[in-house]
Amino acid sequence: MRIYHDMTEWSRLRQTLPSDLSLGFVPTMGNLHRGHASLFQRSIKDNDATVVSLFINPTQFNRADDFTHYPRTLEDDLELLTQAGVDYCLLPTEQVMYTDGYHYQIQENHQSQCLEGTARPGHFTGVLTVVMKLLQLAKPHRAYFGEKDYQQFQLIRDMVNAFFMNIDIEVCPTIRETSGLAYSSRNNRLTPEQRQIADQFATIFHKDQSCEHTIAELEALGVTVNYVEDHRDRRFAAVTIGDIRLIDNYALNVRDVA
Ligand code: AMP
Repeated sequence: MRIYHDMTEWSRLRQTLPSDLSLGFVPTMGNLHRGHASLFQRSIKDNDATVVSLFINPTQFNRADDFTHYPRTLEDDLELLTQAGVDYCLLPTEQVMYTDGYHYQIQENHQSQCLEGTARPGHFTGVLTVVMKLLQLAKPHRAYFGEKDYQQFQLIRDMVNAFFMNIDIEVCPTIRETSGLAYSSRNNRLTPEQRQIADQFATIFHKDQSCEHTIAELEALGVTVNYVEDHRDRRFAAVTIGDIRLIDNYALNVRDVA
């Protein structure tokens, strides 16, 4: 795997890749787990070459402590990507990503006004801006995102259409632990007791019952419920356990956990 810290060097290499070579791209914030792995495995299967970025994007964190405590495991991540057969890894610096001082931003004013958008002011502007920058750098034919962050996937897909970007946005299923808890980098920060509560959150969230019943059961468990809401044919939840915020969602007609 070729690792690029310098984006000018990467862009030079990118220009030399044949135009008929299909390039798949997986943007991540690192601390890679099986959920991320499913994305780059799918990209490797679908494309001639795969590029993964590891960049903890400060502008999408609305809490400074969440950014500070975000798990950083670069050595392990690079090992995993190499073993998986990823071709290129981009490690841009904050300075290069935000040479403009974050004066240029992508703002969405419709779908971002609910769920995570309401709960985390500025979050989606940070996400869309960094994904736009990363797509411009990687210049992929396809980019892969997890259903785990469904609202994010929708916003990115629609941004790419709105700006006539010739990139296929692919969504991949949420990968879960045997308990039903979705893999997340934030799970690593849970204490063993909190982890048990998080497992129960997954079970309760997937029960075939009203949002109100789910909220009541979660609150009885001692979980702080940010929201449990149905939007179109999908149920979404955000909860806080200790100071760790977890999100999840699923299609209402296809439940992947009993
Ligand atoms: P992150 O590193 O959290 O920014 O996530 C990078 C990508 O991995 C995003 O497209 C996420 O939706 C996706 N992802 C994170 N967790 C999972 C999971 N458990 N299953 C599938 N995809 C995931």
